[in-house]
Amino acid sequence: MEIAYFNGRFLPKENICLSPDDRGFLFGDGIYEVMKWYGSFFFDSESHLVRLKRSLREVRINWMKADSFLNISSELIRKNDLENRHALVYMQVTRGAAPRNHSFPDPEVEPTVYAFAREIKETGSVLPAGVSVLLRKDIRWSRCDIKSVSLLANTLSFQEAHERGMKECIFVRDGVITEGSRSNIFIVAGGILFTHPESGYILSGISRKNTIRLAKESGIPVREEPFPEKDLTRIQEAFITSTSAEVTPVTSFDTLQVGNGMTGTITSEIYRKFQADIRAMKE
Ligand code: PMP
Repeated sequence: MEIAYFNGRFLPKENICLSPDDRGFLFGDGIYEVMKWYGSFFFDSESHLVRLKRSLREVRINWMKADSFLNISSELIRKNDLENRHALVYMQVTRGAAPRNHSFPDPEVEPTVYAFAREIKETGSVLPAGVSVLLRKDIRWSRCDIKSVSLLANTLSFQEAHERGMKECIFVRDGVITEGSRSNIFIVAGGILFTHPESGYILSGISRKNTIRLAKESGIPVREEPFPEKDLTRIQEAFITSTSAEVTPVTSFDTLQVGNGMTGTITSEIYRKFQADIRAMKE
């Protein structure tokens, strides 16, 4: 039986009852966080907690118990017998339930907090095969830095990639590559690793941050600069990063092959360092 967390209690998922007036349901008025369990520890849980609190702050949801995120996550792992497995923990916090009105509930209501843990396939040790990605106009809003549950533009774009047999949709805004529908993207051109700078146009990924650190430690030059879509024809390598996909090579943008179509040396090195970094967290 799957045990989930809902407003202070752990209970069978099917027993959870959500108000139809919940603002997450009515407006997509909420935020979420996802972190990965590696059989005995969460990878960089501190960064996930910091980002959860930032998202709450940016959308002005007051959840006094945000610090319990890590305890709730560990309990979900334990209660679902996932201690020795790989799993993702998902938590979402909405502004709570109140009769539909654009203005925030006044007086304030308790936020709705929901979390679950889901087993995933073990990854690591073998570099995943390169994937093809779709390139599409970034139709999202300009606060992509907030990990909001309002993901319609992301799901519509991802679905199009999926229907075309591609593993991600990469967004282009004003002629530059921003990020994916559920990942950040890195591009190698002229031996330099490019990724979009932190701004309202990307989510500041925890895997992105760790990738930049690992690249710098390895002496790989990194530039947090927007990369023009028109220059994709001259790149050597590309890869996406996310909590679930870690470091995944990109070998084509739609019909455009990346470099020689094989995973490149910088991508392989970052992948190895990323895996070592995860293992180091275990010790
Ligand atoms: N960008 C978007 C839009 C995402 O949904 C995700 C996945 N949460 C990421 C980037 C990668 O973030 P992280 O490395 O923290 O999983």
